[in-house]
Amino acid sequence: MHANRVALVTGGSRGIGAATALRLADDGMDVAITYVSAPEKADEIVERIGKLGRRALAIKADSSDASETVAAVDRTAGELGGLDVLVNNAGIFPAAPLADLTVEVIDRTLAIHVRAVLLASQAAARHLPRGGRIISIGSNLATRVPGPGITLYSASKSALIGLTQGLARDLGARGITVNVVAPGSTDTDMNPADGAGAEAQRQGTALGRYNEPEDIAAAVAYLAGEGGRNITGTTLLVDAGTNA
Ligand code: NDP
Repeated sequence: MHANRVALVTGGSRGIGAATALRLADDGMDVAITYVSAPEKADEIVERIGKLGRRALAIKADSSDASETVAAVDRTAGELGGLDVLVNNAGIFPAAPLADLTVEVIDRTLAIHVRAVLLASQAAARHLPRGGRIISIGSNLATRVPGPGITLYSASKSALIGLTQGLARDLGARGITVNVVAPGSTDTDMNPADGAGAEAQRQGTALGRYNEPEDIAAAVAYLAGEGGRNITGTTLLVDAGTNA
């Protein structure tokens, strides 16, 4: 590993990605983030990382675009002097009745949640040293579907499980680990803890509470750290017991 480790967090301008970028910076890494629609939020995260004494970079890159996805990885390695940790976090929540799902929504969701993860991981593999880490943000809805309307989302997140197991085998000989962190309900713009339906989600947990974005960041930081050295091809569920 480099003395100054470098991380790239996709979708790092808000929510779980922003918390993860800040946590990895706090742990001593230089951090690049991607964003697609909120440059001012991305700039704010870059500024906060700078205040932690680390270098930071915001890259506009739409994960539904293959070449922008790959270019973001290469630009991170080029500008920050390498790449040690890739966090595939960028995501959307395309909840809809089955009858309303369009080909466009299906293709866009799979492009962001699956194709981009594979392409970014493939690109990252060209830069990652021994000890490198790839961590993708999945969902507890990948392995349990509690109601209607989330078929596409669940399908896209469950694809990460096989993808991750395959990558763990592809990259294991190089000492690179590949894992999923699967959040349950987490208080972000995507799923606010005071939103409609939040109380039902809270009641479905064992612990009786939502995740904070920092709870997910902590799991990512663990896998990215020395304690994650021998953990690969697996999923760490952080869902306050929803799937228990
Ligand atoms: P938010 O909606 O709060 O933030 C989404 C982030 O992803 C933003 O930084 C956004 O950028 C970025 N993003 C969205 N689409 C794209 C794209 N096409 N290309 C690049 N970046 C993009 O979501 P969360 O933080 O809640 O979600 C993060 C991840 O966690 C997702 O993968 C989600 O599926 C997963 N998750 C979330 C749960 C929850 O309850 N919140 C539960 C389980 C999983 P910008 O700011 O520029 O729009």
